[in-house]
Amino acid sequence: MNKKNIIILGSTGSIGRSSLEVIRNHLDKYNIAYLTTNKNVDFILEQSQEFNPKGIVITDGETYEYVKKHRSVNVPLYSAEDLIEIIKGEDLDIVIAAMVGFSGLKPTIDAIKSGKKIALANKETLVVAGHIMTKLARERNSEIIPIDSEHSAILQCLLGEKKEFIKKIILTASGGPFLHRDVQEFDSITVEEALKHPNWQMGDKITIDSATMMNKGLEVIEAHWLFGLEREKIDVLIHPQSIIHSMVEFVDGSIKAQLSLPDMKLPIQYALSYPERFPVNYHIMDFIKCSILTFHEPDLEKFRCLSLAFKSLELGGSYPVVLNASNEVAVEKFLSGEIKFSLIPFIIEEALSKFGSEKEPELEEIFDLDRKVRKYFQTQVKV
Ligand code: NDP
Ligand code: MG
Repeated sequence: MNKKNIIILGSTGSIGRSSLEVIRNHLDKYNIAYLTTNKNVDFILEQSQEFNPKGIVITDGETYEYVKKHRSVNVPLYSAEDLIEIIKGEDLDIVIAAMVGFSGLKPTIDAIKSGKKIALANKETLVVAGHIMTKLARERNSEIIPIDSEHSAILQCLLGEKKEFIKKIILTASGGPFLHRDVQEFDSITVEEALKHPNWQMGDKITIDSATMMNKGLEVIEAHWLFGLEREKIDVLIHPQSIIHSMVEFVDGSIKAQLSLPDMKLPIQYALSYPERFPVNYHIMDFIKCSILTFHEPDLEKFRCLSLAFKSLELGGSYPVVLNASNEVAVEKFLSGEIKFSLIPFIIEEALSKFGSEKEPELEEIFDLDRKVRKYFQTQVKV
């Protein structure tokens, strides 16, 4: 079998690192062609030394210029502007989209345009441009396979099933670190507490999204685009153990679920191997040790970000773009100590009412709107 050539967009992040771990176990099948980082130069050079790619990309302009001038690097070095040509290249088979947030949109669209297989972790891209990405993927014959564990679970449950037989899908959610915290105490939540997720080790942005439950809201929108299902057919269920990664209920009352230990290496590997499976000797589940699985309804009043995401999906148009941009701004402001945790949903709510519209945006309009929302909050909000 010819080895598949891979680029990892965001190789220095949490998903990027786990992807390299998976690939390290399957070097007979995959070859790392390119890696990208925003600013983490030392780390990408370390990764490059081990995986020997054709080139590395530094997307942050200043960092790229600095490295080009001041460091001697023994691998071809590329900038964000070069990325489009790299992604279009005939020599690439798979794009692992693992940049964080809106930053991943442009390269992911470029990859779909050139008909590449996309292993998609970067859910925000589907949230803001699902209508464009799915249409382009159909036209250009590009497969989008989810890495997000819930969506990987649903993909696995749907194999061999007809869409008309789906009653609903049930996305499970751990509930994050504040599942049992009284909402009256949300004002005093520190950055350190919010960054302590009970079950997963992830990048900062998604960890805060998990604490507000915006992550599940973004995943509901992601599921809508990936599986072509309306809001009424997508439920969220709290399952604190994160063993059942999601479920599908069929019209005859049968429910299929996918279970495994919480370890992103499994959905990453599945996105690469789909529809095949490769044997591994880690993340082996022991039912005796995981004998208690519990479930309950999400509290939409306490986790207002989740209900704002539901609302944005129902309203459609540009609402999800505004939801995503304002959430990214709010999360950055919380992480930098500028606002309290409890203010996050208020920022998003204000943005939705100020900037949202029911008109479905074109790609350029998405970039404009994202910029506008960010700019507005640069000069607003001090608490
Ligand atoms: P991290 O913050 O750990 O990594 C993000 C990666 O993107 C890094 O390589 C980072 O480079 C790069 N990056 C950051 N900002 C920019 C920018 N402006 N332009 C280009 N590249 C940038 O994030 P995660 O790996 O946790 O998450 C990545 C994506 O995967 C997110 O969309 C997240 O929602 C999704 N996801 C993550 C899961 C997880 O378990 N972590 C699970 C499911 C989905 P640098 O190192 O220089 O900062
Ligand atoms: Mg997930």
